[in-house]
Amino acid sequence: MTSRRARWSARSTWVLLAVVLAVSALVLAVPAWRAPAVLAVPAASVAGVVLGVALHRPRGGAWWLVALTLTLWGAAPWLAQVTGRVDGPPTALVWAGQALAAGIVLHVARGREAGREPSPGGRLDLAVIAAVVALVGAQLAAVVLADHGDVTGVVVASADVVLLGVLLRFTVSRRALPVSSWLLLTAGLLVIVYDLTCSLNGRRMALPGEAVQGLGVPALALFGLAALHPSMTATFAAETFARRRRPSGALLGLLPLVAVPAALWWVARAAGAPGLPGWTVPVTGALVAALCLLRASAALRASEHLAEHDPLTDLANRRGLARAHAERPALGGRSLLLLDLDDFKQVNDTHGHDVGDALLLQVRDRLVSATREVCAGDGVVARLGGDEFVVLAPARCAGEVADRLVRALEAPVVVGGLVLRAGASVGVAHEGAAAPVPLAELLTRADVAMYAAKSAGGGRAVDFHPAMREEVARRYTLSGQVRRLLAGRAPDVGHLEVHHQPLVELASGRVVGAEALVRWRHPQHGLLTPDAFLALVSTNDLDAELDAAVLQEVVDQLSRWRDQGRRELPVAVNLTRASLDDPALAERVLTLLADAGVPTSQLHLEITEHQQLAVDSPAAGSLAELRAAGVEIHLDDYGTGYTSLDYLRRFPVQVLKLDRSVVGAVADGDAQLVAGVQAMAAALDLQVLAEGVETPQQRARLIELGVRYGQGYLFSRPLAARDYADRVLGPARSHGPQRTVAPGFAATP
Ligand code: C2E
Ligand code: CA
Ligand code: CA
Repeated sequence: MTSRRARWSARSTWVLLAVVLAVSALVLAVPAWRAPAVLAVPAASVAGVVLGVALHRPRGGAWWLVALTLTLWGAAPWLAQVTGRVDGPPTALVWAGQALAAGIVLHVARGREAGREPSPGGRLDLAVIAAVVALVGAQLAAVVLADHGDVTGVVVASADVVLLGVLLRFTVSRRALPVSSWLLLTAGLLVIVYDLTCSLNGRRMALPGEAVQGLGVPALALFGLAALHPSMTATFAAETFARRRRPSGALLGLLPLVAVPAALWWVARAAGAPGLPGWTVPVTGALVAALCLLRASAALRASEHLAEHDPLTDLANRRGLARAHAERPALGGRSLLLLDLDDFKQVNDTHGHDVGDALLLQVRDRLVSATREVCAGDGVVARLGGDEFVVLAPARCAGEVADRLVRALEAPVVVGGLVLRAGASVGVAHEGAAAPVPLAELLTRADVAMYAAKSAGGGRAVDFHPAMREEVARRYTLSGQVRRLLAGRAPDVGHLEVHHQPLVELASGRVVGAEALVRWRHPQHGLLTPDAFLALVSTNDLDAELDAAVLQEVVDQLSRWRDQGRRELPVAVNLTRASLDDPALAERVLTLLADAGVPTSQLHLEITEHQQLAVDSPAAGSLAELRAAGVEIHLDDYGTGYTSLDYLRRFPVQVLKLDRSVVGAVADGDAQLVAGVQAMAAALDLQVLAEGVETPQQRARLIELGVRYGQGYLFSRPLAARDYADRVLGPARSHGPQRTVAPGFAATP
């Protein structure tokens, strides 16, 4: 099918077009050619449409209607030839064809309007067309009332004039029409001119030998050619009609309509019919022109608005913000608040852009109402793009607005049945009344402060301070180094280490395993914990690489300790969402373990509900496979997210790791949540491990509540691998062979 389509190149259409033009020239020049051409060309044209449909297979039936119209139009001259007369049945066929063509135009116009919101400009367009159509109606009424002989001649000619205007309007206001549409439109224009000429000669159709066939012949041929061109599939597609030009093009398209009243007046005169009184032409012309002016100003206003507003939220955009910054006098100084959503990228990735857009709209509403309430209408809210919003407010209310914004976005947002958490980090930069700051500089400062708010964990507002710039520069350098660190061995940026924090049985204090926690031994900054660099790993899209490197290092360590004859305890490794989204996760992990000769029971994997997984994520399959092979799955940070129960249903979890924030509250008498989780875990046959156990009181209370395992500074801080091995796993009894080193790690014993 594709090869057939490919063989019919656009060039074939152009060659045929040249042939058509040659034939038309002959028809005009040599009267003897006219009659045979008028009979042969329509047949060829119908064949062209049928062939075109077979070759290109367009969607919808519009092209079949075109074929039918052409058949009716082509049959008329045959019939005229056979019966020897033009009026009667041949004319009826022409009428039927015209009605069908009008049907196609209407069908297309309806499809084009469907789904479009009514705009003030669109309504004015309709008013212009209505004025013109009313004029035709009045003209026809005048002709009929005057009992003029050739009513139909005037009817057809007037209808042609209006059709011509509308067709031109359509052509001029559309953007990038396909070649096939152009051929079709040219054919339509020729038919109209042909028609007009005939009716001014007092007939519905031309005689086969008449010179006007020089218009009719190419018109019919062009329909067939339009169907043969490869772009014919786009001709009647809704997208083609939806592609409108900028307002300037739409306005230009109104010009042909302005000329219609004069053309109608001329038609009546040329047909010798007693048309409307002369004054109707300038009056309707002026009315149409006035409507066009209104339309122009509506278009202009809309485009001015668009230049300074964001299309999604209708808030001011960067230009609108610049105008607000330039206009408002800074009495008592003012502040610029730059707000960035904390988890927007994740919402977009997990739930799609429609949900993301809906979330942004709700965020806008909260920002606008918070600003309005606090600043009594003095603040400007703008969107700079993505999930970045700006509020420009008088200094007197800026602090309160910042707090309000953060609080307003703490509450979950419900979008189409989904409960989402937007959370926001806000950076605030001030501008004194006497010391104006250029907008660009104000934005940079707010951005630096916002970055600081994000680094501090998000969900807060931070004021700009000059020292922050150094911190930003430091992070910038670190971000570059993280790439090199994980790309392989780059000794000048230091190396990664995996530290192990023991997991213990609360009652006995017996160590039952460890959690692997990554560190970065940096040449200038010393030992960095994850909070100093994990965000940089994420923004560089290196999560999966980090996980893979840690996994490999841990498996190597396990294998090494095994070879050294030490005690064998499992190690839990943290996985990010990027790893869980990898369909090959299970295979990778199991191969790694098998190659190193480490039993699957020695590895535990921690997943966290902070990083929500898409519904179609392959994680459930991977984790089930790993679980079946003997790898335990632990659910981290339990008690802080929203989807806990959903996670327990979807993933084969064995252990709930109670978040430190929940555990911390236990000794203060707030044990309900822990008791609830413990009861649920017992019912579901899950183990519970309490994180962040720091005091003997917490430990005692947890034991009372039935929690079996724990982890925390009370028992041990995370230990360097060798310390962990020596202190917990007992002495090495032999030395294993030398091993490979994971990317970013240094060779360790
Ligand atoms: P996490 O998975 O919740 O790890 C526990 C964190 O709590 C560790 O912080 C640990 O040092 C700390 N911690 C343990 N006991 C106590 C305590 O009694 N009190 C207090 N205040 N803290 C305690 P760390 O090592 O800074 O890790 C922070 C987070 O970074 C981890 O939270 C985990 O989400 C992530 N992370 C650490 N290592 C890795 C890794 O290898 N891969 C991935 N993907 N993430 C990692
Ligand atoms: Ca963890
Ligand atoms: Ca945790």
